[in-house]
Amino acid sequence: MGEHDKVGGSTDTERVQFGQPRRYLIDIDSMATNQLFADCVVVGAGMAGLRAALEAAGRRNVIVVCKGSLEDSNTWKAQGGIASVLNEDDTFESHIADTLKTGCGICDETTVGQVVRNGPALIRELRQWGTQFDLVDGHIDTTLEGGHSRARIIHAHGDETGRAIAETLIETVKNTPGIKVIEHFFTVDLLTDEENRCCGIVGMDKDRGLQIIWGANTILASGGVGQLYRETTNPGGATADGLAMAYRAGAVLRDMEFLQFHPTTLYVAGASRALITETLRGEGAYLLDTQGQRFMKEYHEAGELAPRDVVSRAILAQMRKTESTHVYLDIRHLDKGFFAKRFPLISDLVESFDIDVAHDLIPVRPSAHYMIGGVKTDATGRTSIENLYACGEVASTGLHGANRLGSNSLLEGLVFGTVAGEAVSTGRKADVTSMKHPAMHYSIPHSDRSRLDAADVRNALRALMWRNVGITRKAQPLTEAQEIICFWHRYVMDKVFDAPDGWECQNMLAVSLLMAHAAELRKESRGVHYRMDYTQTDDEGFKKHIELVRGR
Ligand SMILES: Cc1cc2nc3c(=O)[nH]c(=O)nc-3n(C[C@H](O)[C@H](O)[C@H](O)COP(=O)(O)OP(=O)(O)OC[C@H]3O[C@@H](n4cnc5c(N)ncnc54)[C@H](O)[C@@H]3O)c2cc1C
Repeated sequence: MGEHDKVGGSTDTERVQFGQPRRYLIDIDSMATNQLFADCVVVGAGMAGLRAALEAAGRRNVIVVCKGSLEDSNTWKAQGGIASVLNEDDTFESHIADTLKTGCGICDETTVGQVVRNGPALIRELRQWGTQFDLVDGHIDTTLEGGHSRARIIHAHGDETGRAIAETLIETVKNTPGIKVIEHFFTVDLLTDEENRCCGIVGMDKDRGLQIIWGANTILASGGVGQLYRETTNPGGATADGLAMAYRAGAVLRDMEFLQFHPTTLYVAGASRALITETLRGEGAYLLDTQGQRFMKEYHEAGELAPRDVVSRAILAQMRKTESTHVYLDIRHLDKGFFAKRFPLISDLVESFDIDVAHDLIPVRPSAHYMIGGVKTDATGRTSIENLYACGEVASTGLHGANRLGSNSLLEGLVFGTVAGEAVSTGRKADVTSMKHPAMHYSIPHSDRSRLDAADVRNALRALMWRNVGITRKAQPLTEAQEIICFWHRYVMDKVFDAPDGWECQNMLAVSLLMAHAAELRKESRGVHYRMDYTQTDDEGFKKHIELVRGR
């Protein structure tokens, strides 16, 4: 396979080397670069990063960086809510069982228990800090969602849960001494010393230029990968940077074939794919095909409340059957006043396209939504690299297995952000003054190869991923995707860029290749990974994780 060669590894761990095996994306000369120091550097300011920073801050000084403004995160966009056992008629065992069932046999049961059981206390803490979850009769209101056997999804401001939580965390961080936040700081790479211990980050500060931030510990909380796909619910910043930099640094990545597609995003040609939360189906919305027929019961006994992967594939199949670009959500039978109050964000969105939900149907189709795979961690958020932690969507903690139960990701970010922050706070190597900062020199030879236009490559890559590494997969398109990406690699990965656009393109190429490769390796269907050439789940061969590590 040309420059994409397997170079060894055990049955469960593949070592993959591709393109130029470059350790860093840019030249580094620490003596000539601005430097900052922190006990703990946090990359990312969503749920996971901010919660980690708050936990670490009690005993450590913390620098949080984010590539855009504090509002640019998947967390800010989260709508439906956060799952937790808060009702008397609900139990931890039930939430654990639902999570395990959805995860299709490869969840880490200890992690599932850890996340579920720690949820309620951390949610109470969010309330104390100021998040106003919606109430009925003085109690937190809970909703049902696909895959949950009890109503346990709590929400805030209707469908603006993510924003409400993010605002609380941002405010709390601002009022906490010992945390410095740097917005518009693009982290290019994680720095490692000669023994491959993480010692901070290098990145581009919009105002101050290239900077090194030395950190006794680094917490990676850089979120998801949705922008690798043409159709996605994720905001523009979700370009897989954290996964790519962790991979370059030698961290173990796991479950990279598992990418969750959200079944229902608004389909209006030319508009971005805004998510329409599945709690709308939880509240009674139907799915209709373009011929006006309800079809979900043909695919799953739970109908509209089937797990996401089932609904996404059913919609795709029904679109093919009816030769349409979309299906519809029908809420004409629901009370319009209730809809506007319960889902203000979606209500405004559909109105802005002149859709009157009392009379009109809402056109929807699936989009890339949530990265299940990520940087492998243990129960304290530790990665395979010393002094490097990961939490939130960038991490693979083992909670989701092969499929994520809706509203479990905010919960995971909350719990594992706390856990990683705590590990840094109480760990031995938490003080930057005790750390030896290596002088860092790295230079990249000039390449004479032709230059491709990074913006063009990015667009073509997103279309390729949607087509060949999408909701349904097959050997030949997966091989073709890797060959095409390897071709782009040759002309893009040998260059040195000096701005985020180029680095993002390099990161997107690197991570796309890993995802296509892992999808090819898993010759079965499980959870969100559906192979048309291996439609059955093969417990004998694949009830395991696939781990990818950079070849050396
Ligand atoms: C539209 C939408 C709706 C959703 N609804 C729900 C829901 O209802 N319930 C639920 O549980 N989950 C939901 N999710 C998923 C959930 O929002 C995310 O999984 C979760 O918020 C991820 O949190 P995080 O802290 O890991 O990452 P994010 O919130 O995405 O934060 C990532 C941070 O990393 C920073 N970053 C990234 N790269 C770099 C870089 N190179 N340098 C510096 N900083 C960088 C970003 O700037 C950002 O601050 C939804 C997601 C979307 C997109």
